[in-house]
Amino acid sequence: MKGNKTTAIILIGLALATAFFAGREFLKMREPEPIIKGVGVTEVQKLSQYFPDLKGTNGDTDIYILKGQEPGGSMLVLGGTHPNEPSGFMSAVVLIENAKVNKGTLYVIPRTNQSGFTHNDPQEGSPQRFHIKTKDGERWFRYGSRATNPLDQWPDPDVYIHASSGQQLSGNETRNLNRAYPGRPDGTYTEKVAYAITEMIKKNKINMTVDLHEASPEYPVINAIVSHDRAMPITSQVTMNLEFEDIAIGLEPSPKTLRGLTHRELGDYTDTYAVLMETANPAQGRLRGKTNEALILTGKDKTYVKAQKLGRLFVPFTEDGHPLEQRVARNIAALTELKNVMGELEPDKVIEIDYIPTYSDLVEKGLGEYLNKAN
Ligand SMILES: [Zn+2]
Repeated sequence: MKGNKTTAIILIGLALATAFFAGREFLKMREPEPIIKGVGVTEVQKLSQYFPDLKGTNGDTDIYILKGQEPGGSMLVLGGTHPNEPSGFMSAVVLIENAKVNKGTLYVIPRTNQSGFTHNDPQEGSPQRFHIKTKDGERWFRYGSRATNPLDQWPDPDVYIHASSGQQLSGNETRNLNRAYPGRPDGTYTEKVAYAITEMIKKNKINMTVDLHEASPEYPVINAIVSHDRAMPITSQVTMNLEFEDIAIGLEPSPKTLRGLTHRELGDYTDTYAVLMETANPAQGRLRGKTNEALILTGKDKTYVKAQKLGRLFVPFTEDGHPLEQRVARNIAALTELKNVMGELEPDKVIEIDYIPTYSDLVEKGLGEYLNKAN
């Protein structure tokens, strides 16, 4: 009898220890990576400042503000709307860690749907993290999910009805931030985050908002700018300028019938010029081979090279792939052109920024060169 008791106590002890270590690992997976502010960051705000309901939730994401000495135009960069599309998130990080604004204001939200960074998509086999070598050692970053974590919003309805239009989509789209705009204060977690961002744009009268995305190489809207109608005079000039710089990019008008997306709703509900961009990420594609960190970083995949030869893709795809630094370089080059052209067409909206790496800087030196040292 006594022996049984001792065995039971030992087994319970072992079970508790296992639960403790497994739980600690699980929580560690959800921890956000450090972002190391550069000299240009003048203030860090919380999104709950624009909608207090978000306080204490994963929706209360950081807003990095880079304000110049001189007044001018303003631009908001949204990274991480979909946390499984790393070029948008990394472009935001490069701006926060490097840029210095002289005139006007740059707002950067790296983890726009912060909840999506706390998990990743089941059955996709994506790694939890990827690593980048910098001049001062290695940094790590999360590879998250396209959608809000079910721990923050559950259960999904069978049909998701977009509140302001009545548009119906499949139930899991209810956790897709880029179907939730303009959002609503009494809605779901995802709708509340969208609402807070819409409020933030209105309150700060932000002139231009750029939402950074990636898509799989077999998706038709790729290496493209999607532009709200009011932004077209700017985005059409930007597309031409980028083509002159040998950066092939398409321009798509924001479809009036597809609702809930930044390029439609932020343009309709606020005065901002609403723009969305897409780069090519084979790690989220359906045709990809082995899914690992190398695929995220190098964007090289043999199956996609084959698919390109069969004419199945909407972007060129060679053995060189689409490395992450090249995808970030495309975003940074386009963001630079967007603010430049807005300032040329409307001189009261000039934004002057120093220390933004150029396309060739990023492609040649790599991302590590533009990441700061962890304290
Ligand atoms: Zn996306």
